[in-house]
Amino acid sequence: MAQTGQTPQTPQTPGAGFDWRMLLWIAAVMVIGFYWMETARDAAVQDITYTQFRQAVQQERVAEVTIEGQSVQGLYREGRVGDGERASRQFETTLPPFDDPALMELLESHGVAVSARPTQPAWWQRLLVNVLPWVLILGVILYFTYRMQQRMASGGQGGLFGFGRSRARRFREESTGVTMDDVAGAQGAKTDLGEVIDYLRRPEAYRRLGAKIPRGVLMMGPPGTGKTLLAKAVAGEAGVPFYSISGSEFIEMFVGVGAARVRDMFKDAKAESPAIIFIDELDSIGRARGAGLGGGHDEREQTLNQILSEMDGFDPAETVVVLAATNRPDVLDPALLRPGRFDRKVTLDRPGREARVAILKVHAQDKPLADDVDLNIVAQRAIGFAGADLENLVNEAALMAGRLSRDRIDMECFTLARDRIVLGDKRDETLSETEKRVIAYHESGHALMAWLLPNADPLDKITIIPRGRALGATEQRPPEDRYNMTESYLRDRIGVMLGGRLAEQLIFGEVSTGSEADLKQATDLARRMVSQWGMSGEIGPSSFPRGESQPFLGREIASNPEFSEQTAELIDREIRSLLDGIAEDGAKRLSQHKAQLEALAERLLEVETLDASGIEQTFMKAA
Ligand code: ADP
Ligand code: MG
Ligand code: ZN
Repeated sequence: MAQTGQTPQTPQTPGAGFDWRMLLWIAAVMVIGFYWMETARDAAVQDITYTQFRQAVQQERVAEVTIEGQSVQGLYREGRVGDGERASRQFETTLPPFDDPALMELLESHGVAVSARPTQPAWWQRLLVNVLPWVLILGVILYFTYRMQQRMASGGQGGLFGFGRSRARRFREESTGVTMDDVAGAQGAKTDLGEVIDYLRRPEAYRRLGAKIPRGVLMMGPPGTGKTLLAKAVAGEAGVPFYSISGSEFIEMFVGVGAARVRDMFKDAKAESPAIIFIDELDSIGRARGAGLGGGHDEREQTLNQILSEMDGFDPAETVVVLAATNRPDVLDPALLRPGRFDRKVTLDRPGREARVAILKVHAQDKPLADDVDLNIVAQRAIGFAGADLENLVNEAALMAGRLSRDRIDMECFTLARDRIVLGDKRDETLSETEKRVIAYHESGHALMAWLLPNADPLDKITIIPRGRALGATEQRPPEDRYNMTESYLRDRIGVMLGGRLAEQLIFGEVSTGSEADLKQATDLARRMVSQWGMSGEIGPSSFPRGESQPFLGREIASNPEFSEQTAELIDREIRSLLDGIAEDGAKRLSQHKAQLEALAERLLEVETLDASGIEQTFMKAA
């Protein structure tokens, strides 16, 4: 497939990278400063000749001297500085290169205090000793600041002062290489976005008519349904620069940087207009303000506010369309959805059967398929798969063909790949004979219920080979995708779920832990029937949704202020009576058809896996 993915481009700004110039500047300032201090000191000191010095000593004008190698620094006595020179008390002179043995005597006899110091290093040596450590320390600090900055903020933009430079620049793609042909199904979304592509291609045509170009388009849909892919396809089709950033990237930054980054990103995009800005995972910044959840929301709010004000501040002459994607449109701040912001909405759903076939075709087009592969059947068995899952399915099938050393991907590879995705990997579990029997009867219970109940989905497959987290599995195949489910269908579905446990009870007189997942699913479904879909006589046609689930806290808010405790109790009671009723009916059915239950379980213990026709034959024979 032609998709190139996000190729981060290296920044082209000159001077990017560690800014050595900065360090040089600091070093230069320090050298100059040091030199200036030296000369300032020199200015306060009189330079005199050796002869003048000897004279001054003889005239008793010298108070003290410090000898340092050849050089002598001294101090005149107070009030005796000498002949009209600058009024400094300090002087300096240099000893002649030969020894003056009389000097010491001379100094002593005139009461000059003498001290000596080891030879002073030259001024540049002193400079090195004084300045170099500081330069090094500064360098290290600068280096680490730069590193941190690069990791956390600008992605290598502009050195020391590059904080908040848009990381989106890194994701600027001249051409995404994705076209609408790479997106299969999603017809509605493609049509809606086709309009946007046209705006971007010929903005003048719209502007001449006085039309305002839409600014924000929000794509909503479950993960893997192709939101990111569509955004790239829009950029690819319109042939405009594409800036892409993910909402979660904004969050991992220093306070105040998010807003700066938004500003820069919009500035860059405007400069290149027409352009597309794509904000993925908008919900991670765009959550309703003041919700007080998720932590660090000050930063989030600032970033969000910046996005809003940038979108408001578009010049009519700038054609920048902001695309955003989210799978949680319900939590978005209402301000984002106002006219002039993300007021266009494009919904992406999990693909239906036709669309699944089309998506499979896109991803299988460059792979060698065997003649027995019917993508219609593959699609039919991939109910609930999103685009990303289908891509994965094709890839797993190819891997399977590789593992089996086949030169083409055949239908068996697709079947094995699908089982692997849905059921997990086969486990090498050594189960005891008794455990195997329990599992065989449990699965047979599910299957028999599916066979007996009039509204249940038809059977597809049954297995007692442990895979993934399950010890066995019974699969049904809904004939079509279901968008709307009737009460009778849901009741029978619960009946099938409870079938495993009912069979165990019937045959062994007790139940095992193997029904945990079944019971959870059945209870969840019953709860929704009762509290959301008005399928309980006692509660009637009212809806009592549960509290919004809080992904950050990882739990649902337990208390829901929307309804009273009495209602909660009533709901619980109704769930219980719904499940009890279905279980009672199921137990009756199973005991009436015990022969079939036993026949299937015993057959399973022999062959471990049966397909739809195998199950059917076993039931027919035992009837
Ligand atoms: P989302 O952003 O909605 O979570 P993506 O756009 O990242 O999903 O989709 C992931 C991958 O799944 C895509 O790169 C693409 O290969 C595949 N895919 C998803 N939807 C489609 C589709 N409608 N047609 C073709 N491929 C699809
Ligand atoms: Mg995505
Ligand atoms: Zn079960």
